[in-house]
Amino acid sequence: MRQIAILGATGSIGGSTLDVIAQHPDRFRASVLTAHRNVAALAELCARHQPQLAIIADPALEAELARRLAAAGVRCEVASGMDAIAAAAAGSLCDTVVAAIVGAAGLDSSLAAARAGKRLLLANKESIVMAGPLLLEALRVGGGELIPVDSEHNAIFQCLPGGRPDLAKSGVRRLLLTASGGPFRGRTRAQLSDVTPDQACKHPKWSMGRKISVDSATLMNKGLEVIEAHHLFSAPVEAIEVLVHPQSMVHSLVEYVDGSVLAQLGNPDMRTALAHALAWPERVSSGVAPLDLAAAEPLHFEPPDLATFRCLALAFQALREGGDAPAILNAANEVAVEAFLAGALPFLSIADVVESVLTELPAQAVVDIQTLGERDRAARTAARRVLRNAC
Ligand code: NAD
Ligand code: MG
Repeated sequence: MRQIAILGATGSIGGSTLDVIAQHPDRFRASVLTAHRNVAALAELCARHQPQLAIIADPALEAELARRLAAAGVRCEVASGMDAIAAAAAGSLCDTVVAAIVGAAGLDSSLAAARAGKRLLLANKESIVMAGPLLLEALRVGGGELIPVDSEHNAIFQCLPGGRPDLAKSGVRRLLLTASGGPFRGRTRAQLSDVTPDQACKHPKWSMGRKISVDSATLMNKGLEVIEAHHLFSAPVEAIEVLVHPQSMVHSLVEYVDGSVLAQLGNPDMRTALAHALAWPERVSSGVAPLDLAAAEPLHFEPPDLATFRCLALAFQALREGGDAPAILNAANEVAVEAFLAGALPFLSIADVVESVLTELPAQAVVDIQTLGERDRAARTAARRVLRNAC
């Protein structure tokens, strides 16, 4: 029986994870559930899934959570704060941690799970983008394992022999990351000047949280995924290529030196990757409908438009610069996306903010988590200054 902590249980990935877990009560148990501020949603999930521990990130809401659980007759421990989330990720109530918090806020708990030797199901790509070498070192020292949940990386994991081998020794030539292209595929810059947050969040294929939906619309999501692939699979930047594939059926591909290309296909539903990662190396049903290829629309592939979707080019640039440039990119992007979602920044200016901050803060080596935290804060301060000057 796997005991699973779901960090970010009230989100899109959290909900999909709980759906798969509920289909296999003989194998999986949701033992820890966490949320940011949505006490009502967390209390409801606790009533349905009966975890041993519920944690609300905002300490001001702990009493409210306890009151709601008591009123609903749910018997589980209650805690609050980010430190409690990290402690639970490393604690004895779970052997598996689903890292499904959005943004840099997920880093400490991902690291805690890695250090504690848990099976880490990583959805929170920002963790590995910011702190790739530190997270991989924590996994090595802790003796745990990371199974990627991001659909592209889960696909690549499935197409590589033994999951995460040495790419060069396995005869891998390239990793081909597919991208849906988002809601604005095919548009010109002029057509993107006044798009709204709701338009950006209306993804054609995937239903996701608002931050990753905006990242998908700017293609920053794919940029973060290129950096994620570099760390997860020790792939040099030249060996990673992005292919736009609007049907979102081929989740990614691995090309070998003999010309063979292996792909993983499926309907666009995160429960497939989650079921794979939860049960690995076994397989369990996910509730996702079988792929009907005969009825499917034709599969189309095209190169990304890097001139219009500059965030993807900036992510490649940050990866080539190395050091903490990806962490700077990520922090600036989080601030810019928040401003866009608040109606305070035009869509096309997200890339401008990220570019300014990358220029202002040239890359430094990643030394330790404290220094990385300082650089993350410096990048956020710089991004807010750029925002103020732009408005
Ligand atoms: P979401 O916004 O739907 O959910 C985020 C969850 O994190 C919520 O439970 C929220 O309460 C919690 N949270 C938010 N801010 C927090 C904070 N400061 N402290 C503690 N908890 C906090 O997001 P999502 O779409 O589920 O995405 C979660 C992560 O998974 C992101 O990193 C995203 O890039 C990644 N991911 C998502 C998808 C997807 O299909 N949704 C696919 C691949 C990867
Ligand atoms: Mg993805």
